[in-house]
Amino acid sequence: MSTAAAPDVASGAVESRDPATGEVWSRHESATSTQVADALARARRAQRGWQLRTVGERAAILRRFHRVLFERRAEVAALIGRENGKPPVEALSEVMVTLDFARFYAARRTLRVLRPESRTAAGPPMWRKRVLIREEPFGVIGVISPWNYPFMLPAAIVLPALVAGNAVILKPSEFTTETGLVIDRLFDAAGLPPDVLQVLPGARTAGAALVEQGCDKIFFTGSEATGRKVATECGARLIPCVLELGGSDAAIVLDDADLERAAEGLVWGRFSNSGQTCVAPKRVFVEERVYERFSALLAERVRRLNAGVDRSAADLGPLIRPAQTDRLRAQLDDALARGAHVAARGAPAADHVFAPVLLTDVTPDARVLREETFGPLLPLVRVRDDDDAVARANDSPYGLSASVWTVSRRRALAVAARLETGSVVVNDSVIVAGMSDVPHGGVKASGAGRAHGVAGLRECVRSKAVVLERLPRLRQVWWYPYGPALREALDAAIVALHDRGWVRRARALWRARGLVRRPRP
Ligand code: NAD
Repeated sequence: MSTAAAPDVASGAVESRDPATGEVWSRHESATSTQVADALARARRAQRGWQLRTVGERAAILRRFHRVLFERRAEVAALIGRENGKPPVEALSEVMVTLDFARFYAARRTLRVLRPESRTAAGPPMWRKRVLIREEPFGVIGVISPWNYPFMLPAAIVLPALVAGNAVILKPSEFTTETGLVIDRLFDAAGLPPDVLQVLPGARTAGAALVEQGCDKIFFTGSEATGRKVATECGARLIPCVLELGGSDAAIVLDDADLERAAEGLVWGRFSNSGQTCVAPKRVFVEERVYERFSALLAERVRRLNAGVDRSAADLGPLIRPAQTDRLRAQLDDALARGAHVAARGAPAADHVFAPVLLTDVTPDARVLREETFGPLLPLVRVRDDDDAVARANDSPYGLSASVWTVSRRRALAVAARLETGSVVVNDSVIVAGMSDVPHGGVKASGAGRAHGVAGLRECVRSKAVVLERLPRLRQVWWYPYGPALREALDAAIVALHDRGWVRRARALWRARGLVRRPRP
C-alpha cells in the first residue's frame, strides 16, 4: 500500500538517559516520515531476495545471531541495564530469554509450520481438486516496541518475522534506542543481508509514520491507549496488526496454597523490573482463611527489598522516567484516600527510586484495581472463595495473564478455565512472557493476536492456496446452463451425500446421475 505525500514530521531527538540520574548519554534524530518511507522502499527491495532463500538458509542466520549474542552477552546486558535502569541480573535474564527464542525459531521442529502442504481437497463435490497451500511472508513487517523489556520483546518478534521471510523495520521505544540498535548490529554480525532488518530511532511520530506509510503488518507492543490509536490507523488502511497491550493481572491465592512460595513468587513477580512488567501480578486476591497470614508473609518480604541506585546490589532500580513516578503516586494516593492502608513499604536508597508498597483494605473502586499500575505497588484484596476470586479477577477491562497459587492441580485448572485472560500460570508468575514456545497475548483491552511460540510464527505468514484441476478435460457439473434438471440433479446429489437413510441415499444417487451426463452448451 502506498501513501499520499505525508508531512515530513520529526519530533526532535530521542535521548537515552540514565534513569537513575536523568543524565543524557546518547542522542539520535527521530526518523522523519520521508526517512520511514525510504526505509520501507529499501526493505521491499531487500525482502524479495530474502524470501527466495530457503527456510534452512534463513534459520542458519538465526543460529549465527544466537552465537553472536552468546559471545556478546555481557556487553548487551550492560547496555540494557544502562538504558533501562534494571539490575544486572534482570538485564542478563533478558539476554538468556532471547537466546532461547533464537534457538526456538531456528529449530526444524518449529519451522515445520512453514512447510508447504499438498493434498486432495476435502468434501466429495471437490474430489477432482488438488490443493497446494503455501505459507508466505507478508512482506515488510513493522515492529513498534516499548522500553520495559527493550531487548527481549522486540527480538522475540523480529526473529520469527525474519525466519518466515519478511523484512522488518523496528521502531524501538524512544527511551531505549541504543538497545534497539544493538539488535541490528547483532544481526549484521550474523550475516543478515543489508536492509532486511532496519532499526529506526524515533519518537512517537516515527511509530505513527511506520503505520501510515503502509507496512504489510504491524506488531505493536505498548500501552492500551497507543494500541487503540495504532489499531484505528491499521483499520483505516486495512493493515493486519497484532496488539500486545497493557495488563492488570490477577494473582489468586487459594486457601490450600504453599503460602511461603506464593509470597516469595509474588513479591518477585510484582517488584522485579521495578514493577514495570506487562504480565506482573498487579492485583492479588487472597482467600479469607489465609489472608492475615499471607499478608504478614508478604509484608515481611516487601520490607526486606532493597530499592536503590547501586545496581549491583539492588533488587529494584529506578523507574524509567519521573513522569512514571507521578502517575504511580497519584494511583497510590487515590487508594489511600478511599480507605486502603500501607501494610509495608521498602526503604529506598535514593530519592528518585519509588519504594515498593504493599497495600491492604483496597476498595473495589480504587484506581490501582481499575487501571494498570506500572511500578512497585502491590494491592491485596480479601475474597470469600474460589468463585469470588474468579469474579473479582475478571472484573477488569484487561485480560493479559494471571496466576493461581494452590497445591491442588484440580482447583488450579478449574480456576484457570474461568479466567478471562490469554494465559494462566500456576504457582509462579511473569514467566509466561519469557517462554519461547508459549503463545503470549491478551484478551479484552490487553490486545489481539499472539506473539511467541508457534502461534507467533504463524502471525508472520499468510496462507496462499493454489487449487489444481486433476481432470481438466471434464467440465464442472454446476457450470451454465442452469435449469430445472440441473437443480433436481443437484438436490439429489445433496441427499445422496447427506441424508441419514441409506435407501434414500442410494435412490438419490441414481437421480443424481444427470450431473455427469450434462450436455455441453
Ligand atoms: P507506549 O504505548 O507509550 O509506547 C510504545 C511504543 O509505541 C513506543 O515505541 C512509542 O514510541 C510508540 N508510539 C507511541 N505513539 C504511537 C503512535 N501514535 N503510533 C505508533 N507508535 C506509537 O508504551 P510504553 O510506555 O513504551 O510501554 C509500556 C506499556 O506497554 C504498558 O502498558 C505495558 O503493559 C505494555 N506492554 C505490554 C506487553 C505485552 O506483551 N502485552 C509487553 C510490554 C509492555
